[in-house]
Amino acid sequence: MALRTPEEFRDSLRDDRTVYFQGERVRDVTVHPVLRIGVESAAVDYQIAEDPDNRHFAVVPGPDGQPSSRFFLAPRNSDDLLKRHLLIEAGSRICFGFPPFAKEGGSDALNTAALVSKKVDQQFGTGYHGRVEEFRRYLQQNDLSVAITMTDPKGDRSLRPSQQADKDLYLRMVAERRDGVVVRGAKAHITSSPYTNELFVLPCRQMTETDRDYAVAFAIPANSPGVKMIVSATAATPVRLMDHPVSSSYHIIESLVVFEDVFVPHERLFLKREWQYAGLAAHLFATYHRVTAAAYKYPFAELLVGAAKLMAEYNGLDRMSHIRDKLSWLVTYAETIRALTRAACMNPVEDRDTGMVYPDPILGNAAKFYFADNYHHCVKLVQDIAGGIVATVPSEEDYLNPETRPLLDKYLRGAADVPAEHRLRVIKLVKDLVASDMGGYWEVTSIHAEGSLAAQRLAVYGSADFPRYESAAKRAARIHDGTAGVYSGLGCWRDEESRNPKPKT
Ligand SMILES: Cc1cc2nc3c(=O)[nH]c(=O)nc-3n(C[C@H](O)[C@H](O)[C@H](O)COP(=O)(O)OP(=O)(O)OC[C@H]3O[C@@H](n4cnc5c(N)ncnc54)[C@H](O)[C@@H]3O)c2cc1C
Repeated sequence: MALRTPEEFRDSLRDDRTVYFQGERVRDVTVHPVLRIGVESAAVDYQIAEDPDNRHFAVVPGPDGQPSSRFFLAPRNSDDLLKRHLLIEAGSRICFGFPPFAKEGGSDALNTAALVSKKVDQQFGTGYHGRVEEFRRYLQQNDLSVAITMTDPKGDRSLRPSQQADKDLYLRMVAERRDGVVVRGAKAHITSSPYTNELFVLPCRQMTETDRDYAVAFAIPANSPGVKMIVSATAATPVRLMDHPVSSSYHIIESLVVFEDVFVPHERLFLKREWQYAGLAAHLFATYHRVTAAAYKYPFAELLVGAAKLMAEYNGLDRMSHIRDKLSWLVTYAETIRALTRAACMNPVEDRDTGMVYPDPILGNAAKFYFADNYHHCVKLVQDIAGGIVATVPSEEDYLNPETRPLLDKYLRGAADVPAEHRLRVIKLVKDLVASDMGGYWEVTSIHAEGSLAAQRLAVYGSADFPRYESAAKRAARIHDGTAGVYSGLGCWRDEESRNPKPKT
C-alpha cells in the first residue's frame, strides 16, 4: 500500500476505538456532528497529497520506491526542513489556521525517537533504533496518522513522577511480560488522538533513577485494548457557517488519553527505563515541534492581519495613522514568526550518529515564543481596529429573518462603497477568531500548546552560546583572561588562546 485517500483515512477510524464526548461513548467519530469537524480537518493532510499544486512537496519516494508522505521522511538537510515547513503552512492555510495534525506532531515524535534511540543503543546495547525505523517504514507504507502523546497530567507540578501521591499521574510501566510491557497512566490534551491511527508516546520531562519506570517511549494503535479517550469540551460549541466561518469548518480536537493497563509489544518499545534519556527526548521533541507550531501559526497570523485590514477598510478608517501603525505592527508580527521559523530550518543542527538534522534550537524556540508572547497583543489590536460590534453583532438567524435583515443591512453598514453583508461577514470572522469560544481556545493554546512560555525560555537559555556573547563583552571591556574567543574574518569564530596572541597591556 502507498498513499491513502481521504476516504481510506476516514474508513480506518471505524475501528471500535473507545472515545467519550459529552457524557456518551462515540461509536464512529467520522459521522459525529462535532467530532467529524476534526476528522475533516485531519483529512486535509491526505487531500494535500492528491492536490497537483502541493503534491510535489507533500509526496516523496518511500523506502520501497512507492510514493510516501513527506511527513515521515527523516530530515537530512535544511531543504527537507524547509519543505516540511511549507507543507505544514499549506495545510494550516487550507484549514484557516488550524493544522490538520494527522501527521505533523506524530512525525516530530518519530524523528525525536530516531535520534534518541541511536544514542541509547550506543550506551546500553539496546536495539531501539531499528525498531523506530521499522515503525517509520510501517507508517510510510500504510500512510497512517499518528498523534504525539507526551504531556502527562503531572499532578503536583513541584514533584517528580515517582514522588506523586498517585503514582499514575505520570504514565509508567507497571508490569513486564515475556513479549512486552504493560503501561498505566494518562496523557493530557492530545491533539487529534480521537482520529489518528497510532499514538506515539514519549516522556515529557527529565527523570532521575527513581523515576525509571516512567522513562518509556512507544507507539501503539489508538484502538488498543485499555486505551480510553475523553474528548475536551472546547469542541462542543454549536456552530453556524455565517456566525462561525472558521470553527464551523475546521478544528483540532484534543482528548485526555487514559491507558488502563495497556500492553505494548517489545517491537513497539523505544525506551524502557533508560531514564538518562527522558530529558533528551523531551528537549529534542520540543526542538522539532516548536518549529512545526510556528509553521502552522503563521497562516493564522495572516488571517488575523487580513481580517484587521478589511475591518479598517470597511469602517472607512484605513487611512488613519493610528490604524496604520497597528496594521504595521500586525504585519511585522506575522512576518517575524515566519522569518524565525524559516531561519530555524535554514540553520539545522546535524546529528552525527544518524545523519539526521533538527532545526536550530534557539531560533525555533524563539519563533514559538515570539508568537505566543505577543499573541494577546495581536488580538488586542485586531479587537481595537474592529470595534465593539464584534461583541454585540446579531446572529445569523436575525440576518436570515426577512423582518430584521433590512434593518441590519441599513444600520450595520460602514464605508458607503462596501456592501453591508461584506462588513457583517468580516465582523463574524473577527468574532470567531478573537471573541468566541474558539478565540479563547486560541489564547490559551498559544501560551500552552507546544510547551508554556517558561519552557521556551529554558530551552533558549540551555542552548545559548553564552561564552561567545561574553567574549564580545570581554573584548569591548579589554578583559584578556584567555577564556575568550574572537570573530576573525567574516564571522568565523576562533579560540583566543590558541590563535590570537594577547595584546600587550
Ligand atoms: C490546545 C492544546 C493542544 C495540545 N496538544 C498536545 C499534544 O498533541 N500532545 C501533547 O503531548 N501535549 C499537548 N498539549 C499539552 C501542552 O504541551 C501543555 O499544555 C504544556 O506543556 C503545558 O503543560 P500544562 O498544560 O500541564 O501546564 P502546566 O505545566 O501546569 O503549566 C502552568 C504554569 O505552571 C508552570 N510550571 C509547571 N511546572 C512547573 C515547575 N515544575 N516549576 C515551575 N513552573 C512550573 C508553567 O511554566 C506554566 O507557567 C496541548 C496543549 C494545548 C493547550
